[in-house]
Amino acid sequence: MKRIVGEDNVLTDPISRMEYSKDMAEYEGYPSSIVKPASEGEVIRVVRLADRTKSPIVARGAGSSLTGAAVLEGGIVLDMRRMNRVIKVDATNWYVQVQPGISLDDLNIELRRHGFFFPPDPASSYICTVGGAIAEGSGGLRCVKYGTMKDWVISARVVLANGEVARFGEPLPKNRAGYDLLHLLVGSEGTLGIITEAHLRIIPLPATTPRRLLLALESWDSVGKVITMLRRSAIVPGLLEFLDRQHAQAINAKLGHNLEESEATLIIDIDEPDLNEAVGIFKACGAKEIRIAKDEEEADNLYQIRAMALLAVKSLAPASQVEDVTVPLDRLEEFLVTARLARSQPQRHLRKFAGMR
Ligand SMILES: Cc1cc2nc3c(=O)[nH]c(=O)nc-3n(C[C@H](O)[C@H](O)[C@H](O)COP(=O)(O)OP(=O)(O)OC[C@H]3O[C@@H](n4cnc5c(N)ncnc54)[C@H](O)[C@@H]3O)c2cc1C
Repeated sequence: MKRIVGEDNVLTDPISRMEYSKDMAEYEGYPSSIVKPASEGEVIRVVRLADRTKSPIVARGAGSSLTGAAVLEGGIVLDMRRMNRVIKVDATNWYVQVQPGISLDDLNIELRRHGFFFPPDPASSYICTVGGAIAEGSGGLRCVKYGTMKDWVISARVVLANGEVARFGEPLPKNRAGYDLLHLLVGSEGTLGIITEAHLRIIPLPATTPRRLLLALESWDSVGKVITMLRRSAIVPGLLEFLDRQHAQAINAKLGHNLEESEATLIIDIDEPDLNEAVGIFKACGAKEIRIAKDEEEADNLYQIRAMALLAVKSLAPASQVEDVTVPLDRLEEFLVTARLARSQPQRHLRKFAGMR
């Protein structure tokens, strides 16, 4: 492996193996080696070697997944972050051709120079890589308005387990020929192959930046009402994140913020033309505080609250685990009421909500 990627790009020492022994799900497994390829050719040769020696192998981006999927006991972890080039920004076809190891924030910095934008942001965009986000099928902050990774990946090159290269999808707006194997790849958590390149759909930067707001509400039911009323008024927030009191407390304690520690806090992006109507809805739902960020810096600070919330909670309660709940939007209000009740008798209330006996 040292001959393939260079002496410095193979790590087998105990400290490096420990560094790579976890992702953010806290599941633990010590790889026997960490290999850092710089090209698809190197990936192919490493995968072939792994195939010949029957060594398990898994790709890794920033190790920020919440699923344990980047962790492997006793095999090769392939750190993809040296493959971090933007190959082409196509301003006519509206795609970017990119290597998998670039972080989503760095991708957006490059795209901004061309007047474009890649919307998916799993709240870890400051570290997480394109390859990791594809393999996790990530959603996150902007998914209600813009969808998740699966809606933005249009093609990918993949090194399969035997070292062969396959390309799934095409950088075209429409291609209906054959099976849609690309979307089998998205969310497959690295089990089907190593992504070495992808084409991602991009859109022009919005003409105006949405306004970012922070709301303090007295109850979880009000949160549900806010969401229902926004939907019924055809207002689609660019971002909508809910924090309960414990999250607000953790953020204040650990990140030095001064949030009102109310039952519910919402961080919302609203397009300027909808702002007045949305504020009317927030007031009607009993918002005690409606703070509208006055500039980009304040908007960024509000964003950081969400991005860092998990880390703040984990530093106070290291054993906490994250679960995604998937609820039809028209039952979100009901779900929030149930979740509140479920703090005392979780089984009873959640089973009832799910229609289980
Ligand atoms: C604070 C925080 C908040 C988060 N919030 C959300 C959220 O709201 N919504 C959400 O969906 N997710 C969320 N996530 C998880 C998010 O999905 C991951 O952070 C991200 O997608 C993983 O990217 P990564 O580069 O760190 O990948 P890793 O963690 O390194 O790897 C993740 C998976 O991708 C595979 N992989 C990595 N690179 C490749 C490649 N080149 N080819 C093939 N497989 C590859 C790995 O094998 C592994 O299975 C959050 C994470 C954090 C830390």
